[in-house]
Amino acid sequence: MSDDTIFGKIARGEMDADIVYENSRVVAFRDINPQAPTHVLVIPRKPIATINDIEADDRMLIGEMFLAAKEVARIEGLESSGYRVVMNCGEGAGQSVFHIHLHVLGGRSLKWPPG
Ligand code: IMP
Repeated sequence: MSDDTIFGKIARGEMDADIVYENSRVVAFRDINPQAPTHVLVIPRKPIATINDIEADDRMLIGEMFLAAKEVARIEGLESSGYRVVMNCGEGAGQSVFHIHLHVLGGRSLKWPPG
């Protein structure tokens, strides 16, 4: 599948990002429009547009994204204060970049439910 999104370019190393953590399968980088003191996005290097496009064979990769989110929280010192990990699916839920990404948010009090 081709991926001309900004995040596809970051995943392939074709575009700069403020990278917090990466390995051969996932990249975590700071959001350019942060909604909290820590706002980091975790993406797979593999292009997957939305949650609806995740396949059974992706189960390990999706787990790896959460392990990366946990690592981001450790790096950012959020483990005890708490943090939120969220993924929007589709325009109606606020997804604007069609390469799946977890938002890792922390460093302030977070309300529930989100708007
Ligand atoms: P979404 O709305 O859930 O799709 O989240 C997309 C996020 O990507 C937004 O929070 C944007 O601020 C962020 N974003 C867009 N372009 C870039 C970029 O080039 N670098 C880092 N973050 C970006």
